[in-house]
Amino acid sequence: MRDFKVGKSVKSRRTLSQQVSQISAGVTALVLGVTLFFVVFFSQQLALEQSIEQTRIVTRVIGSNVTASIAFRDPATAGELLDALAVSPEIVRARVYLADGTLFAEYNSVIDQSAISQTQNSLGETVAWSSLVEEIKAPILLGNTQIGSMSVWLDSSKYQYRVYLALLFSFVIWLIGAAIAYVLAQRLNVRVTKPLNDLSEMMMKVSAEEDYSPRFKREETNEIAMLGGSFNQMLEQIEDRELRLQEAIKALELARDAAEEAARSKSSFLANMSHEIRTPMNGVVGMIALLKRTELSDQQQLYFDTIDKSAISLLMIIDDILDFTKIEAGRLEVKSESMSLKENLASIATFFDEPARLKGITFNIDGPKNVPDIFMGDSGRLRQVLLNLLGNAMKFTKQGAIQLNIAVVGSNLIKRIRFEINDTGIGIAPKDQQRIFSEFFQADATSTRQFGGTGLGLAICKQLVTLMGGSIGFQSTKGIGSTFWFELPFQAPVLNPFEQTGKLSVDEPVNPFARSGQSDLLPLKGFVDESLTSINKTKGEQPTPVFKANILVAEDSEVNQFIIRELLATFGLKPTIVNNGQEAVESFESNPYDLIFMDIQMPIMDGVLATRTIRNLQSEHGVNPKCDVVGLSAHAMSGDRERYLREGMNEYLTKPISITELGKVLENLLRPVDELVLWR
Ligand code: ADP
Repeated sequence: MRDFKVGKSVKSRRTLSQQVSQISAGVTALVLGVTLFFVVFFSQQLALEQSIEQTRIVTRVIGSNVTASIAFRDPATAGELLDALAVSPEIVRARVYLADGTLFAEYNSVIDQSAISQTQNSLGETVAWSSLVEEIKAPILLGNTQIGSMSVWLDSSKYQYRVYLALLFSFVIWLIGAAIAYVLAQRLNVRVTKPLNDLSEMMMKVSAEEDYSPRFKREETNEIAMLGGSFNQMLEQIEDRELRLQEAIKALELARDAAEEAARSKSSFLANMSHEIRTPMNGVVGMIALLKRTELSDQQQLYFDTIDKSAISLLMIIDDILDFTKIEAGRLEVKSESMSLKENLASIATFFDEPARLKGITFNIDGPKNVPDIFMGDSGRLRQVLLNLLGNAMKFTKQGAIQLNIAVVGSNLIKRIRFEINDTGIGIAPKDQQRIFSEFFQADATSTRQFGGTGLGLAICKQLVTLMGGSIGFQSTKGIGSTFWFELPFQAPVLNPFEQTGKLSVDEPVNPFARSGQSDLLPLKGFVDESLTSINKTKGEQPTPVFKANILVAEDSEVNQFIIRELLATFGLKPTIVNNGQEAVESFESNPYDLIFMDIQMPIMDGVLATRTIRNLQSEHGVNPKCDVVGLSAHAMSGDRERYLREGMNEYLTKPISITELGKVLENLLRPVDELVLWR
């Protein structure tokens, strides 16, 4: 018996070959044994019966011969007659009895007297002496009168011995026959089961090693060879499929690597592009800001307003691309803070009133009657979605009206705030409606040329609304108009009774372009030259604070050096300007600066390394320990700010630098304000 491992369990079993051999040998042996037994038994039985019959005849013959001896009472003659029985060795005794039962004459063979006497003693004379002795009786007649009887005892043991002997021989023959049958069956079975065994072992090896190259070899052309052939064919197919699968996996892996590489390249391209565009834009916006502070004619003022708006639009596109990249990378997060709906709507109205008036379109916001003013959400992202959808409505509507409706919908338990923008614009053809929220999709090429845009706005809106836990959709009829809507979960704020909730007053100027801390180009209260934007122009003049401090600026671009010098001059500051990080470190070692503006990307030594060196000098050597560092970069990717703060910077400003942000940073870092700030 062999042990086979089947999967994890070990099963003990007899081989098929052994089973078949044993069965066929067993059957052969049984048939042979039974046949031999019956043949031997019946042939011996027949021989015995024949012998008894012969003895019976002999008994009768001798019986008739001893008639005269009985008649003449001559037992000696009778004895002689009986002695003739000696020719038959099976007859062991013969007796002649008179009619009254008296023994008249007797014959005893010499053999086996002990057995006879034993039997005589125990059974008497009239019965069989033993099972090995047969008694044959015959009457002795004279005419019709019985004058005596004769009994002859036949020894049948000889026949029984022959039976045993024959059975012994039969057994030996049976044994030899069975053994031969077993061996032959084994040989025959080996021809059947061995190849099956080989085949099964081969298949087990194939499945264990997953190597499909082995083939079943068989020269004969029987059923097993056919089975092996089928297996070979199957293995060939699996091997071929495996080969193709491996090739497909390799190709997919290559494609995946290429796609990942492309995605990485795209992200870094977008980040670099943003940096490269923002750097010259810093020059443009900065110069506009500075120019607008000079004496200008009304016409020049108008031109600068237009340049300003165009610059802002360009930066919005860059922001859109960055937002899209961030959303794709899963890095965009939405805030949940209390916000004022009124404030958001006010800023939006300010933004669209004028363009609508110029286009001759009615623009109306249906004030929220049942909508509470303060609720939780991300006001920057909400404004971004509204600006996008209203901007589209404005872009694609030549005449008629644009209406923004706001309402609270849903059950008492789950309330949602619904924004709906209706326009009477060009509408969207049914074939384009499926793909309207896909990235870079624009309904038709002519409208792209006519209206501009990137095809990213709606895709970003959808992502933002989804991130805020809401849903977005639209209905549109070509040539009639469109209704874009979105719903956000309505969450009332948990108010702190000690906190002034009116913090977000509608009267405060709000920047509708503010994008989660990115290019906040429009100035806020306090540090503003109102000529910077057309939107805030109507607001009252605010005094610009003046600081007294030693400032170092490390910036390699001449344009940017000029702009930041001029911007700082607005706050009464005259910075020292160096061209790279190394110069900044050297200058820091010999001058007591209060604040350093450090560009990130510079030749010779970049801003990050320079900051690290400065921080090291401060902590290890106690050089000018109170000096702060503000990073400057055109990198506006999410996570940049946190990274630079980790590198040891106190603040981080994105180029183009907003006067507002610059003012905030100065106010925060040049402390104590009371001692240092003088008001102009
Ligand atoms: P963009 O406006 O920059 O092209 P969007 O993703 O905002 O990109 O819009 C995608 C397209 O959807 C637009 O190009 C325009 O074909 C269609 N679309 C969006 N809003 C409207 C609208 N209010 N009316 C008609 N078509 C619209």
